[in-house]
Amino acid sequence: MAEPADRSAELAGALARVRQRISAAAAGRKGPAPELIVVTKFHPASDIRLLAALGVQDVGESRDQEASAKAAELEGLGLRWHFIGQLQKNKAKSVVRYAHSVHSVDRASLVDALGKAMAAEQQASGRPDLACFIQVDLQDGGGEGRGGAAPADVAALADRIAGTRGLALAGVMAVAPLGADPDAAFSRLAGISQDLRLSHPAATAISAGMSQDLEQAVAHGATHLRVGSDVLGARPPVR
Ligand SMILES: *Cc1c(COP(=O)(O)O)cnc(C)c1O
Repeated sequence: MAEPADRSAELAGALARVRQRISAAAAGRKGPAPELIVVTKFHPASDIRLLAALGVQDVGESRDQEASAKAAELEGLGLRWHFIGQLQKNKAKSVVRYAHSVHSVDRASLVDALGKAMAAEQQASGRPDLACFIQVDLQDGGGEGRGGAAPADVAALADRIAGTRGLALAGVMAVAPLGADPDAAFSRLAGISQDLRLSHPAATAISAGMSQDLEQAVAHGATHLRVGSDVLGARPPVR
């Protein structure tokens, strides 16, 4: 493993390159600059500590067990934890203890579980509402099992989130389908977001874009980018 000073310099360089790509892509775009969420899954807490020292405040994780351990270890750094992976209902109670947002809300039963968990958590800790992004499956019938609601189900899920105490509807999220043109996928997501805002005008967030396709996501109005490997390097293989 690299010495912390070397690793910090490496992360600083990669972070600067990603930030440069984002500002180049967003040049001339109206509205606020897209927010960068650095996806730290599979990378050690020590890397997140270095990132925090470099000014990163928003981090993304996709597994509750890993995320909750890191959040506990790094408490006090003022990080905002974004949960971006498929979420089982029985993990809702754990996730709401540390997560600022969940980007992968994709079914009614999960909305209900998060609402129930938030009711208890807000009573105990007074934490702010949980920001919820509806993950949309742009794959038409799925296949890859990456999760996500069918586009036709977004409106009902949005009403359910908006009607649940403790949850705040942020907007939509998607992963571009493997092998598909990210431009087409994110253009479709922008349309879904536009439809959603007709009934939920405050739900303006669009979480889209990863290392490979952040430029296309920004071009289609992404407000939140989830970038992992281009900041931290290749992830260690899944255990
Ligand atoms: C891992 C992951 C990312 C980051 O992907 P990179 O290609 O490493 O940038 C973004 N979004 C989700 C949902 C992920 O699971």
